[in-house]
Amino acid sequence: MAKENYISLRGQIRGDVIMVSDDNGNPITALFSMHTLKRNIYDQAGKYELKFDKPIILTSDPKMIRSISNIKKYDIVEIKGSFTTGRAVKHKKCPHCGFVNSVEVPFQVISPSYVGILKTGLKSDSEGLQNLIECAEISNVAKVIGRVCSEEIHTGDTERGDIFSTYQLAVNRKYYLYGSSDYDDHSDYPYVISYNDQAIKDNKALYQGSLVYIDGYVHTMLTPLSVECANEECGKEFTIKTQRMSLTPYSTEYLRDYNENAIEETRPNRKDDTNEYELDGITYKNDELTKE
Ligand SMILES: [Zn+2]
Repeated sequence: MAKENYISLRGQIRGDVIMVSDDNGNPITALFSMHTLKRNIYDQAGKYELKFDKPIILTSDPKMIRSISNIKKYDIVEIKGSFTTGRAVKHKKCPHCGFVNSVEVPFQVISPSYVGILKTGLKSDSEGLQNLIECAEISNVAKVIGRVCSEEIHTGDTERGDIFSTYQLAVNRKYYLYGSSDYDDHSDYPYVISYNDQAIKDNKALYQGSLVYIDGYVHTMLTPLSVECANEECGKEFTIKTQRMSLTPYSTEYLRDYNENAIEETRPNRKDDTNEYELDGITYKNDELTKE
């Protein structure tokens, strides 16, 4: 099976880089988050629509830690890496009784194989914004091949009224990742969330075992997670917020083991079919330039 787990990011550092050190003060883990922009910053109606995502980058590779130790808050950086998933334990205090619960949560991070600083000395998020807009086309790129491993494709409506489909992928790594617990640990399990036309197609065409190629971006959102307090005298529920990182395709190529008939039945279902957009007062229409 072809392998691909390629993430390329260009964006601005959010907050400070977090370094975790061992007892001798040697850094063993580096962690940071960055602002990236989704490409196509004009929507179909030609309106300027910036869509930010905040991927988290985590590494225990000494070479990467050395590169990251030079990064300052608000720097513009570029990353090449892979989408990595696992499980971690978070310690959360129950708001009802104060008991500290150990909660196992899934985590998703980008494991870098290259980190470079493009611009330093910026003083704020807004100073980096113009730079982000200029590189929106390459700010957040994900190319991933994997097999659908969830039992079913879950489809529903977002609060904004968009149709979405979501499923989990099993993705094999191309190489051994520094710090992995053992050599058998070489698969990652990102969630994919597709929207509208793509979501409808995915719902009809995909099933457990389908092989797909995702051309998309790293999509981040805060999701609430309900926890039941482990203190027997309490047992009440409380909610913690976790950042979930998934893949959202611009397009998905179905490579193998999918429902081919479903693809032919599906016609594009575009709400806005005017094929127009506006730039600096000029309307571009059906490949014809008209000034209004
Ligand atoms: Zn409690």
